[in-house]
Amino acid sequence: MTENHLENENKARRYLARFGQETLGHVIGGQTVAGKSNAKLENRTPVDGTVLNSMALGDAAEIGSAVSAATEAFCDWRNVSGTARRQLLHRIADAIEARTEEISLVESMDTGQAVRYMSKAAIRGAENFRFFADRAPSARDGLALPATNQLNYTLRQPLGPVGIITPWNTPFMLSTWKIAPALAAGCTVVHKPAEWSPLSATLLAEIVHEAGLPAGVLNLVNGIGEVAGRALSEHPGIHAVAFVGGSQTGRHIMAQGAPTLKRVHFELGGKNPVIVFDDADLERALDAVVFMIFSLNGERCTSSSRLLVHTSIHDQFVESLIARTRQIKMGHPLDPTTELGPLIHPDHHAKVCGYMQIGTAEGASIQAGGNPGTGCYFPPTVLTGVEGHMRVAREEIFGPVLCVSSFTDEEDALAKANAVDYGLAGYLWTRDLGRAHRIAQQLEAGMVWVNSENIRHLPAPFGGMKASGIGRDGGDYSFDFFMETKNICVATTDHQVPRIGEAP
Ligand code: NAD
Repeated sequence: MTENHLENENKARRYLARFGQETLGHVIGGQTVAGKSNAKLENRTPVDGTVLNSMALGDAAEIGSAVSAATEAFCDWRNVSGTARRQLLHRIADAIEARTEEISLVESMDTGQAVRYMSKAAIRGAENFRFFADRAPSARDGLALPATNQLNYTLRQPLGPVGIITPWNTPFMLSTWKIAPALAAGCTVVHKPAEWSPLSATLLAEIVHEAGLPAGVLNLVNGIGEVAGRALSEHPGIHAVAFVGGSQTGRHIMAQGAPTLKRVHFELGGKNPVIVFDDADLERALDAVVFMIFSLNGERCTSSSRLLVHTSIHDQFVESLIARTRQIKMGHPLDPTTELGPLIHPDHHAKVCGYMQIGTAEGASIQAGGNPGTGCYFPPTVLTGVEGHMRVAREEIFGPVLCVSSFTDEEDALAKANAVDYGLAGYLWTRDLGRAHRIAQQLEAGMVWVNSENIRHLPAPFGGMKASGIGRDGGDYSFDFFMETKNICVATTDHQVPRIGEAP
């Protein structure tokens, strides 16, 4: 154990102690509340299975109270000026920055994600608030569309109370990515975080209130998806649901929201291809391939989980890939040298293990990893000889498992890349400029990175096609979701209004 690891463990123990003392409640109308039902869930760390805390499980009653609080708070919050909102959201970003160590250590223990990534994710949480803070003053701006004898102009207004439902991978970063634009737009929020990683949502609720966010503007209800999440997406007082999670859950939420005609924004699963041509900078391509599947435990919607490599370089590239994969350092998430931590939960670990049997039974071969480690640990794994019809080629494994196939030419690469239900991200490595544009334009993916790993630019649209999602966020796209666009048409002359109903 290194000195830094020990220091992180001691600090994490101190930060986590408060959670062990009492049952984690909900935050409704600015108050921490226990909830009406006695239902509780023990939250265990995937590091060694020990209990971190117990958590109250909210149901329709808590969702109802939270929606009432959000509805009441909306009356004032919608009228707070954009510049005042900007100031407040910057204060929240400052407060997040001041607590990044706490957020990242708690998040690492709650999710199993290595602290080297969680410290960056916590900082990105602050950046999300800053980014949307700066756009708050112009969120309502619209267009002037003059026409003959009339002036049309548009403006945007906040939708009202919205629901935000988030998953367990990088929960802090992902929830700020949704909550910050909702608040900047003037909406109030009811947040339902994932039951497997609840802690950082409570830290965020605490931070925003300490920074001065009025009571009821952000509410938090902990609970199970099928109960609390369901009640939130069904509630008539909720105008929209922004959801990040699995595609099947997205289908449920769409159905649950249908009777109240809920607006939905879905960021769902992925089975993202990385295509490596023989003319690519193979060293950099290898770095990116390895990083984009094994960072964040492979529990990453934009992970490049399918490697398509040109036949002429397949054997050489895969050999280097296997050598690098075997050197990935799996270990305790609080050790700063750890590159891969334990998977989130024993159930998820079992799911990832199950794909080893499924893959080998279908004819794929395990070239690195593959054998379950102890507890929730699962080693970085490479499956070769993967064919398009196999389940491991089509289904999201959401773990550190890379499926390798080869291709013969551009047409073959594109056909294989697009032959899945998902369409979130695509990665492409080639030095041929024309080919890069040809492939990028034909890839069925909401986002394509050429000669790069996933690097986010916050104004750029983020989202997926096909089963990977509906809608985009980032920049102004987020405001389009959280706001109504209204057109106002004003006559500029006394034009002749058609007259009907006159006596003949
Ligand atoms: P999940 O769909 O099981 O759960 C996500 C959230 O939905 C949780 O808070 C859960 O409690 C809630 N939920 C579950 N059932 C519900 C229901 N019937 N009604 C309302 N809410 C419900 O997903 P997960 O396992 O937590 O996360 C992993 C998934 O998230 C992967 O598929 C991953 O690709 C996806 N993801 C996508 C993105 C993206 O930006 N596209 C980002 C991160 C994760």
